[in-house]
Amino acid sequence: MEVGPGDEVIIPDVTWIASAAPITYVGATPVFADIDENTWCLSAKSFEACITEKTRAVIPVDLYGNMPDMDALDEIARRHGISIVEDAAEAIGSEYKGRKAGSFGDASAFSFHGSKTLTTGEGGMLVTDNDKLFERARFLRDHGRKPGDKMFFNHEVAYKYKMSSMQAALGLAQLERIEELLAQKRRIFKWYEEELNGIEGITLNYGVRDTNPVYWMVTIVLDPKLRLPKEYLMEKMSERNIDCRPFFHPLSSIPAYRDTEQAREARERNQVNYRIAPYGLNLPSALNMTEEKIRVVGGTLREITVR
Ligand SMILES: *Cc1c(COP(=O)(O)O)cnc(C)c1O
Repeated sequence: MEVGPGDEVIIPDVTWIASAAPITYVGATPVFADIDENTWCLSAKSFEACITEKTRAVIPVDLYGNMPDMDALDEIARRHGISIVEDAAEAIGSEYKGRKAGSFGDASAFSFHGSKTLTTGEGGMLVTDNDKLFERARFLRDHGRKPGDKMFFNHEVAYKYKMSSMQAALGLAQLERIEELLAQKRRIFKWYEEELNGIEGITLNYGVRDTNPVYWMVTIVLDPKLRLPKEYLMEKMSERNIDCRPFFHPLSSIPAYRDTEQAREARERNQVNYRIAPYGLNLPSALNMTEEKIRVVGGTLREITVR
């Protein structure tokens, strides 16, 4: 998209750093907007408030399989002439108004990292309906060769961002059983929902109106009134041999970005993510989870939180 130095790209403050790092790689400035209280994804209102004349693109993230309010984001982006790149790394199978995650905006990215719902070990996939972007990406990923080039003739210094044939074979085999993988993720969430139902102060990621999510990781947010920060919870769970992960820390709070001017502004502005992120926990969600294991996790959480 020819984004570079002097340009700004808006992303949600709470996401994995992989959403932000590419902005930094091309010399542009990441701007950290607040998240929405219900979806935990980019807030449309905060997105609009962060727009300046330098804004070139926005990267909404389908956090943990939740979907942002794409219609609202799309309307704002169009009105301001801003490109959208959807980060669908955590949301393969999720739907917003009947449309699949990864089909929004000018381009979208999936991740096939070992932890993801569909994996090739490492790797990922860029998708777009824009022919120009598609051709440009094919050119950039192979050291600036034109697709089909047989003369090993490089027009630009570019990159080597290709997947190996062995990974692709693994990915194709996974794709053949994608419905089975998605069904198991849905089952895991349902089991957790039944198990945690009625524990006061625990909110699970729940599908908001117009969405049909497939959760990559089942996630809970605790009422701050319980005064159980995620670090404490992780420690207590770990004592029982249950491995959890922390809700992503706001990018504006971590050493990689915290000393930037944009991070300072984000810490002032992003009330919602600073309220939620300290109390969020990803629960064990791997595809080999069983109803019995989930009962153990739920029982342990109940013991820790009900006092
Ligand atoms: C996993 C992930 C990525 C991509 O990670 P890779 O390790 O580069 O495949 C990007 N964004 C989000 C939100 C992710 O969870």
